Formats: sequence, structure tokens, C-alpha cells
Amino acid sequence: MSLVVAKFGGTSVADYAAMHRCAHIIIDNPRTRLVVVSASSGVTNLLVELTQADTQEGRRQALIEQITDIQYQILGDLGHPSDVIASIDAVLNRISQLSEQLSQTRTKAAIDELLAQGEQCSSALFAAVLREKGAAASAFDVRAVMRTDSFFGRAEPQIEQIASLTQTLLAPKLTDHIIVTQGFIGADYNHCTTTLGRGGSDYSAALLAEALKADAVEIWTDVAGIYTTDPRLAPNARPIKEISFNEAAEMATFGAKVLHPATILPAVRQKIQVFVGSSWAPEKGGTWIRHQVDAVPVYRAVAVRRDQTLLNLHSLQMLHAQGFLAETFAILARHKISVDLITTSEVNVALTLDKTGSDSSGNGLLNESLLQELSKHSRVRVEDNLALIAIVGNKIATTPGVCRRVFEVLEPHNVRMICQGASPHNLCVLVAESEAAQVVKALHENLFEATS
Ligand code: ADP
Ligand code: ASP
Ligand code: MG
Repeated sequence: MSLVVAKFGGTSVADYAAMHRCAHIIIDNPRTRLVVVSASSGVTNLLVELTQADTQEGRRQALIEQITDIQYQILGDLGHPSDVIASIDAVLNRISQLSEQLSQTRTKAAIDELLAQGEQCSSALFAAVLREKGAAASAFDVRAVMRTDSFFGRAEPQIEQIASLTQTLLAPKLTDHIIVTQGFIGADYNHCTTTLGRGGSDYSAALLAEALKADAVEIWTDVAGIYTTDPRLAPNARPIKEISFNEAAEMATFGAKVLHPATILPAVRQKIQVFVGSSWAPEKGGTWIRHQVDAVPVYRAVAVRRDQTLLNLHSLQMLHAQGFLAETFAILARHKISVDLITTSEVNVALTLDKTGSDSSGNGLLNESLLQELSKHSRVRVEDNLALIAIVGNKIATTPGVCRRVFEVLEPHNVRMICQGASPHNLCVLVAESEAAQVVKALHENLFEATS
């Protein structure tokens, strides 16, 4: 059976009108059998605030009311169907219970369960909107199939288990129903709810598509595809018709929020094409991400990732010695920190850490025990408020003139770090967060808008 998995992000399921538009996209394509939804826009942020230790009782009640209002607005537009009200009320009660529980005792498991409730609501409501349009649709709890490890906040999907559970429990339902399920969430081997990290619904959709051996994954969002840079930063950014898996993975990794960084992996493993389009204007088309593409330009896009930390380690042990980097990486690995960019000198190593990759509840990566461990073998300096800008494309490391063009643009700015040469697909620079928007705009103008 030819099968498409369609994922709708927060703004696409923000309210009844948005869900209505998405329902048409689904019904218009009979191949779409599985729908993956995010929480309605803003709900996960409200839940994150609810999980925070310093949120006062009064504020917690206000947050719960705001979440309730968003759900009840949609229920009202649906004409208050009693069965759906019952499921939404059950979720809202669970939110209150978990919020109460967290104000007494904080556990990572309870935080993840609370964060997962936004997707529980949106999936129940969206299935009801589809039914209202005459489709045979039902909600399905993804926790039955999305098996992960127990690393709450940023759980690791267990690919083989997901494949077998999906084939057994989910695939048979797709023959006569459109199934609406939750992105972002999963469950560990003890059936405790886990989350995949912020923005993880794209990843969920790709994982389910892989498990079902689907023909395509569609990521429906608020922009008509992947652009040459974030259209919010450069008004002249233009949509890209077709892009390779490698380029898209680089863009996602380096901050193009339109795609969660891990989304491409399952698609590559199963050679599934990915489409990115706007649920507001599906007629505009979008971007196809494929294995093979016709054009491989040197400059494809500029991406920016904010909230970067630069860790500078100084140690005389490095001088003509072996093993210093291995030791440093072992410490970081024990703390589950993946190093991003790295440069070294004789006695220094500078590495960037990506705070945007922290867990679903927004907990930072650097903690006291990590810094203490690092301090035992080096002098540690931490710089914050940095942004990483990546020029993404092809043959970047082997095309003469790339650096001249990029450095010309960077001339008035202080560049804290440059990484070039490791990948044929990117050149990265680290600048002050406050200058990031200006640098992206200037790079975009020079690389994509200049006529000569
Ligand atoms: P969703 O809620 O649908 O998952 P996101 O907010 O996560 O949507 O991602 C869509 C946003 O990604 C866009 O509104 C846009 O501002 C941002 N974005 C960043 N880089 C790009 C890019 N290169 N192309 C398109 N959108 C981008
Ligand atoms: N709702 C989750 C978030 O806001 C997941 C997603 O939107 O992809 O991060
Ligand atoms: Mg997203």
C-alpha cells in the first residue's frame, strides 16, 4: 500500500480554523493514512513553565487556565462533542494532578508526562475535526509503539522495537482509518512517558514513516518549504524546490528550525522522501528532500543556531602529550554532551556546546559536576550568548573563493571561532548573539541576492 505520513506542527493545529485547513490537506490525498501532530501552538511552552520549580501556585493555576482555554475554544467550535470533551477533561485533570505532584516532588518522569499532555489534547481534537469532515479518523496513543530509552527529556528511540510494535499495533489500523497520533512523545520499557526533545514531532513522524516503510513524510508548517535562510531574518529568502538529504541534515543540525535535526536519519535509512510545505498555503508547493537532486550549488542556505556556549580549556598537559582530548571527550560523554565544533592550539582546546539541544524542559547542559570534572585537568573558561552561523552547500571546502566572499561580509564583526574544512557541506562561524541577525542578513544578501 502506498502510504504517506503527514505531520502538522503547532501553528498548523493552533485552533479550529487551522485544524480545518489541515483536514483538507489530509482528505485531498487518500494516501495519507497516518497523521502526527504537535501540541497546539504555545501549549508546550505553557507546560514547560508549569514544570519549573520556581513557578508559584497562582501562576500555575493561570497556566492551567490558559491551556484549558485553548482546548475549550476548539471544543466550542466543534460544537462540544461529549466524547471528545470527556477525553480532553481527562487530560486536563492529569495536567492538574501532575502539576500538583511536581510542586511537592520533582521527578524527570513526571516532568515528561506533563510535557506530553499537549499532544494528547491536540491529537484527540484533530481526530474529531477530521470526523466532522466525514473522514473515518481516530486518535491513537503513540506510546504503545514509540519505544524509547529512559533518558527523560531527550529520550533515544529504539528503532527495532518501534518497527515491530508499529507493524503489529498500528499498521493494521491504517487500512480503514486515518490515524491521528502524537509527535514528540514516547514511552520507555516501563511504560513511563518520555519526550524526544523540543521540536521532536518532526522526528516522530520520520520514525513512524520508517517503521511503516512509508513512501513519503510530509512536514506541514507555517512556511512554504525550506528557504535559503529563515524568512523571518531575511525577507528576500526564497524557497528551495529540491534539496539533498545531506544538505537538509546540515541545515537542520545548524539551526534551521523548520526541521528537527534528527528527522533526516530515519528518512535516509529507509530512503523515504520528505516534503516540507505550508499548511496555510499548500498550493504554493514546498521543498522535496531527496537522496539525489538535480542541482548541487556551492551555496544552498544560511542557518543560524542561537544559545551557543563556547568552552575553552587550557592545559599545559596538552603540550606534546597524548590523551588529553580523549580524556576531555570521555568526561563530556559521561554527561551526555555532544561536542559540536572544535578547534585546538598547542595548549588550548575550544569547543562549542549547543544549548538548544538541551532537554524538553529546557535544562541547560553545563552543570557544576561537569565543570568540576573538567577543572581537574584544565583551566575552564565559559562564554555564553553566542550564535553559530553555518553556510550550507556543496564542495565548500574545495571551491576557491568561498572564504574571501564570506570574510568580506564578516569584516565588521568579531568572529570568535571558524570551522571550515571538515565537511564539504558547511563553513561555520561563531559570533555574538546580538550580531547574529545582521550577519545572517548580510551573508544572505551577498551569497543569494547579489546579481554578479
Ligand atoms: P512547526 O511548529 O510547524 O514545527 P517551527 O516553528 O518548528 O514549526 O518551524 C518553522 C519555522 O522555522 C518557520 O516559521 C521559520 O521561521 C523557521 N525557519 C528557520 N530556518 C528556516 C529555513 N531555512 N526555511 C524555512 N523556515 C525556517
Ligand atoms: N510540542 C513540542 C514542542 O513544542 C514538539 C513539537 O512541536 O515538535 O517542542
Ligand atoms: Mg518544529
